[in-house]
Amino acid sequence: MTELRTLKVALLGCGNVGAQVARILIDDAGTLAPRTGARLELAGIAVRNLDAEREVDLPRDLFTTDGETLVKEADLVIELMGGIEPARSLILSAIQNGASVVTGNKALLAADGPALYEEADKAGVELSYEAAVAGAIPILRPIRDSLSGDRITRVLGIVNGTTNFILDQMDSTGAQFADALAEAQRLGYAEADPTADVEGHDAAAKAAILASLSFHTRFDLENVYCEGITGVSAADIAAAKEAGFVIKLLAIAEKIGNGDGSEGVSVRVHPTLLPREHPLAAVRGAFNAVFVEAENAGELMFYGQGAGGTPTASAVLGDLVSAARRIVLGGPGRIESTTGHVPALPIDAATTSYYIGLDVADQPGVLAKIAQLFAEHGVSIEIMRQTIHRDADSNVESAELRIVTHRASEAALAATVEAVKGLDVINSVTSVLRVEGA
Ligand code: NAP
Repeated sequence: MTELRTLKVALLGCGNVGAQVARILIDDAGTLAPRTGARLELAGIAVRNLDAEREVDLPRDLFTTDGETLVKEADLVIELMGGIEPARSLILSAIQNGASVVTGNKALLAADGPALYEEADKAGVELSYEAAVAGAIPILRPIRDSLSGDRITRVLGIVNGTTNFILDQMDSTGAQFADALAEAQRLGYAEADPTADVEGHDAAAKAAILASLSFHTRFDLENVYCEGITGVSAADIAAAKEAGFVIKLLAIAEKIGNGDGSEGVSVRVHPTLLPREHPLAAVRGAFNAVFVEAENAGELMFYGQGAGGTPTASAVLGDLVSAARRIVLGGPGRIESTTGHVPALPIDAATTSYYIGLDVADQPGVLAKIAQLFAEHGVSIEIMRQTIHRDADSNVESAELRIVTHRASEAALAATVEAVKGLDVINSVTSVLRVEGA
């Protein structure tokens, strides 16, 4: 039997994910070697604090604070520090030294991915980042490899577990956003500062990555329209429920024809109504799922744990073994396909159905006035339901109207809503939410 060569692995970061990666590299060295065709030797772990308690018992002599020297001696570098610097400089240094890099750092990829991919291409090494989108779920490799012979038309993803947990809590208990967020924080699903999750920024970074791979064009954060879930009320959830929908924060990337034969890609993150029978509606708690539509494959769904040290370490190890195999077999780095050249479209160009809640005067002719106004703006109504309320104190009746439209452009919808607000029979527009999958 030929002796397997040894590849040196540098690990940058030993937190939630890094510690589990180190554990698997050490504990499973025997099973990883034949699968890889090389022994993967954990050469060192760069951290900030050498004396910090670690979740996993690891040899002390592996630890260093000198990441720069560590990456220079490695064949493969795993970056799990997070943040922009020093992660970016260390990744660049690794690439320039001919090492392949595995990272889970979506914030860095969203901020500076294109420059890093270009450096990796130039150096002929791999830069892989399966863990950056939807944790344990293998989704980037299927999009990049398995579907490379197909044409993806649309990707809908629940890619942020924190917001899915909060919306699921609101849906199942009737809680307000603030209470569901507090519960998510108590259970460790949301951070003390939940801004990146609840404002949709984390999902937007992942949407940019999904869109780039799906449409063979590099998109960054600036191309992503982003709306979080802080404006979703218990009343929105209840109304959606009554109408047979569930509200999810979706990362959406879809190809849209411009009407002149050209195409563009709409990349967006926003709360979205999904019919309760849609496969993504069944994604509960902090789980993630990505629903892919491709011309030949049809509909596909990828489901699993979107975060957590051990599940995310699984995705990191998959990338590591794949990059190591490539080194062993002597092939070039994985060439990212960027030949799509499809422009990113502004949010105004997106077309979806809409759910609109209106508080209206209970008078004859109101429905006709509203229907006519929608028609004048080219937005056609699919469902219109009216519920009458009587205020117990004043005895005044008001009506609540719930409208679901057929697909319309954002621009047409925005103009319609503005015009509706101007009608004398409208007390208020209580919600405007986009609908997918209906
Ligand atoms: P974490 O628990 O905060 O761990 C970060 C590690 O990096 C720590 O060991 C820290 O060292 C080290 N570090 C940070 N800054 C450093 C610096 N300037 N110099 C040297 N070491 C430094 O992070 P994590 O949750 O494991 O996440 C790691 C990466 O994976 C992030 O990019 C994250 O977005 C991504 N990711 C995480 C998850 C998840 O579920 N956690 C899921 C998907 C992707 P000390 O321990 O000494 O402080």
